[in-house]
Amino acid sequence: MGLSRILPRSHPRPEAVTDEHGSGADNERQPDLEAAPGPPPDPGSTPEPEREPGAHLHAVPSAEGETPPEPREKVMANVIVFANQKGGVAKTTTTLNLGVALRELGHNVLIIDLDPQGNLTMSQGMNPDSIERSMFDVLVHRVPISDVIHTVEVDIAVASIDLAGAELALSSLIGRERALDKALVEVRGKYDYILVDTPPSLGLLTINAFVAADGVIVPVQCEYLSLRGLVQLENTLAMVRENLNPGVRVQGIVPTMYDGRTLHAREAIEILEEHFGDLVYDTRIRKTIRYAEAPVKGSSVLRYDPTGPAAQAYRDLAKEVLDGAKAREHA
Ligand code: ADP
Ligand code: MG
Repeated sequence: MGLSRILPRSHPRPEAVTDEHGSGADNERQPDLEAAPGPPPDPGSTPEPEREPGAHLHAVPSAEGETPPEPREKVMANVIVFANQKGGVAKTTTTLNLGVALRELGHNVLIIDLDPQGNLTMSQGMNPDSIERSMFDVLVHRVPISDVIHTVEVDIAVASIDLAGAELALSSLIGRERALDKALVEVRGKYDYILVDTPPSLGLLTINAFVAADGVIVPVQCEYLSLRGLVQLENTLAMVRENLNPGVRVQGIVPTMYDGRTLHAREAIEILEEHFGDLVYDTRIRKTIRYAEAPVKGSSVLRYDPTGPAAQAYRDLAKEVLDGAKAREHA
């Protein structure tokens, strides 16, 4: 079930989608819950989103002359993308710790750092500044992804600082939105789960992730809830669905940095559940300094503090994600 089943689709705002630097209105911290969309328009009268000529997103459906991708088989890895165009909502933390939790449960896991900031790479103890080959080379020079995979707690395809130039370098290439999807062909059969960490924008790197994805998980910080930001994300996803990857959906929303002692955080959860119902996972990722301490040691929180509640939270989330996958298989 996608967000669009719950939220009537609003007009896309391509100018926000093109915001590569996290400076758009929805990247601003919103210290209250005022960001909730206004009263839902009559779904029957909601027009299809219009595309503005020249807008960056207009380029998304182009993929001219390309053959549609092969249908994916069941044995292939489940590709889950972690996205939210706001920074600091725990995308990277969730990608790593959920990946390690799935590994603990016996699954083969690859995590991919698609953020030029390289935080995921750093959080496994590597320095993005001194990495020779990275996802940049995979996306732009078609280097096999296996060449940039390192094995730490889980397998990780690393980012380096030059990934910042990938959007520009990709923008002139045919099939620019499918570069990641194509790169994953080599490894889809080797892993059960491939988790992709994305930058805080809805630009070409994130769109590449959406095109390769089976599902999207959206970490949402309970403190600075931006429902408007989620609607934008869903609009981008809807365009990817229409033009590039019909099956991709938001599969879940993870409330992060939750502090149950504050009314504010409890209200944030209520609003999320009111709007998104079952899409909101039951697991609450509570606010704790453990999540910031672990990456400094180049470690997941599951290795850094294996018996603590912070590790347990991601084990609980892993079970919920697996249950969701099972439910879909039987549907
Ligand atoms: P994003 O990838 O969305 O930018 P990060 O995962 O890098 O977000 O998290 C932003 C910062 O918040 C990091 O310093 C991280 O260690 C910290 N953090 C993540 N999750 C939590 C949490 N549940 N409680 C407290 N701090 C957290
Ligand atoms: Mg990050």
